[in-house]
Amino acid sequence: MTDTPPQTDLRLFNSLTRELETFQPLHEGEARVYTCGPTVYNYQHIGNMRAYVFADTLGRTLRWKGYDLKHVINITDVGHLTSDADAGDDKMEKAAASAGKSAWDIARHYQEVFEADLARLNVRPVQHPKATDYVEAMIEWGQSIEEKHCYELDSGLYFDVSTVPEYGRLARAVTDEGEGRIDTVDGKRNQADFAIWRKTPEGENRQMEWDSPWGRGAPGWHIECSVMSAELLGHPFDIHTGGIDHREIHHPNEIAQNQAHGSCDHTGAGIWMHNNFLVDRRGKMSKSSGEFLTLQALVDRGYHPLAYRMMCLQAHYRSELEFTWEGLGAALTRLKRIVMAVESLSDGIQPATKTVHPELFRRINTSGDWFLEDLNTSVPLSILEEVLAFKKIDPSERLYTVNQLDSVLGLSLLDLTREDLRIRPKDAQITEEEIEAELVRRKEARAAKDFATSDAIREELAAKGVEVMDGDPLGWEWKLL
Ligand code: AMP
Ligand code: ZN
Repeated sequence: MTDTPPQTDLRLFNSLTRELETFQPLHEGEARVYTCGPTVYNYQHIGNMRAYVFADTLGRTLRWKGYDLKHVINITDVGHLTSDADAGDDKMEKAAASAGKSAWDIARHYQEVFEADLARLNVRPVQHPKATDYVEAMIEWGQSIEEKHCYELDSGLYFDVSTVPEYGRLARAVTDEGEGRIDTVDGKRNQADFAIWRKTPEGENRQMEWDSPWGRGAPGWHIECSVMSAELLGHPFDIHTGGIDHREIHHPNEIAQNQAHGSCDHTGAGIWMHNNFLVDRRGKMSKSSGEFLTLQALVDRGYHPLAYRMMCLQAHYRSELEFTWEGLGAALTRLKRIVMAVESLSDGIQPATKTVHPELFRRINTSGDWFLEDLNTSVPLSILEEVLAFKKIDPSERLYTVNQLDSVLGLSLLDLTREDLRIRPKDAQITEEEIEAELVRRKEARAAKDFATSDAIREELAAKGVEVMDGDPLGWEWKLL
């Protein structure tokens, strides 16, 4: 029995065809993936982070299937207007002005926080190129498509979407419903035409601006992803990902640029994949709606970041995921149960190395199809729980299998401890009387052999920063963490 992964096809949903397709790498043994990254003018909210957990799960699955992965998540550290339109303020410049800092400092700060959040969510480190390092290449790209596909207006260089075949195919939209629908720029030939280069308006100064054949200014947003993906992965590459909002404007515009640059014969990527939104009662979580939740806000309330990863893995990436604190609590409890089971399994035992019990191997093999069907992560999660409960099989082999599954799930199951998961809420406030009253209730539950209630009380206290210490030799029954 070997430890090679099941030789089943990996099927992924391609937004271009709206169908499940078998993944076939363009370069043998390699998978090249580009993920649209954040605009670093503000903190990323947990909705944004869902997009990167999804991209990471895709990357992990490709590696699990044995591909050598090249993955890029870019950093938009320049421009990007306050809406998807071509007129209005730059997000970066606006944030800098209101914080009284330079746009460069703002970008650096939010990029650092973003990368720290990725690490807390176990998103594997990948390449993070910055748009500002590619401006020259963007200008060259603009020059190469200018004659056949662009026209100049006072405000900049614009892409004429009628010059490429099937513009908007990805969005299933028509040329009148593209980017320009929010704010129109005088002189645009089609509503959906978009800026390749935005000239700095007369009499204004931008902190981030460059010289170009079309005047001093800054690149349009869409051009950066075309340029960075081409430079770092080569066109065409395998898979392009982003949130579902990008299916409507940003990615159709990237495709149009790629078609123009490559003489119209390719969209740039074989498969385009989009995660659905994280929503709450008010709808899509978004930066512009004012209040939004950061990963730190979850930690401040006593939730480990990997509880949020668990919450994402329980849902299919193409479904909306509703955020509630109860849902997050349930995900944390599930993670705790798994971690406890792994801890008791691994007590003094190392995972087996090469071989695994035929029964376990078969279990993963036979479920390989649905496991890998469009990143249906709820399947490996439940197999994992089954494996942990497979009492008749040697613990080291079970551990080995847990480790294999975790290489796709990314929950750090062999390292995470119960203590790691017990985070004291920042503003935990519980009086001694309240703790004592809870402990009395717990003792009664235990006396009545109602262990579910007694465990629940222990968990509730833990969430409030109180550790219950059963059987502590010194007689302390609890302590504040
Ligand atoms: P942005 O920094 O606004 O460009 O967003 C970064 C990524 O997060 C993009 O892929 C967006 O599509 C994605 N995104 C934005 N809001 C949400 C949300 N509420 N749920 C899931 N993904 C989102
Ligand atoms: Zn992009």
